[in-house]
Amino acid sequence: MSAYPEDEYLALSGIQHFAFCPRQWALGHIECLWVGNLLTAEGDLLHERVHDPTFDEKRGDRLIVRAMPVASATLGIRGVCDVVEFLCDENGVPVTGRKGRWRPVPVEYKHGDNSSVHADSMQLCAQAMCLEEMLCCDIPEAYLYYAAVKRRERVELTPELRAAVRDALAEMHRLYARGHTPRVKKRPGCRSCAMREVCLPGLEKARSAVEYIRGAIDACREEKP
Ligand code: SF4
Repeated sequence: MSAYPEDEYLALSGIQHFAFCPRQWALGHIECLWVGNLLTAEGDLLHERVHDPTFDEKRGDRLIVRAMPVASATLGIRGVCDVVEFLCDENGVPVTGRKGRWRPVPVEYKHGDNSSVHADSMQLCAQAMCLEEMLCCDIPEAYLYYAAVKRRERVELTPELRAAVRDALAEMHRLYARGHTPRVKKRPGCRSCAMREVCLPGLEKARSAVEYIRGAIDACREEKP
């Protein structure tokens, strides 16, 4: 199985943006044009609270680890799991400093409702696939917690979802290596998209920001005598 060198790892969280809209991911991760809006600000606040390391704890037969760094050489990604719950289970893995065996279950916190559950599930599945590679175990299920509706949803990590994650990450690596931003493809999510101002979805034939700057430079050169 081939592996990516560490300097080619992509941010794991990007897969959620890519699943929502490949152009949104490319504007942020290739062109570095991050523009926040109210939704992203609320999400940042929630993750700050979830990632507070003082919240690590043990509840009965469950260890709760917050802000756990994860990576996968085969997928070429690195990131941080909001929460990984380790459930006491004889089919689990050993945990340093703890007796017994523990089965890891990632939990990803989202500030909104479940309207982006597919994109969220892709991110969650990528986290689980990293943990499987790091801990040499199988993780059949994981959970999404939606703060706006205070609901926790079980996500089955099916072969189809895993294949979708692999395909998306392979495409992200291809686009990143070429420095290519996909063109605008209008979708319902454009209305609340944090990249709307730089993407200009109303201009279907809009060039990428990089293409725009290159075009402007070329035009200046042509004007010089
Ligand atoms: S505005 Fe629409 S097309 Fe543009 S990045 Fe956002 S979701 Fe994608």
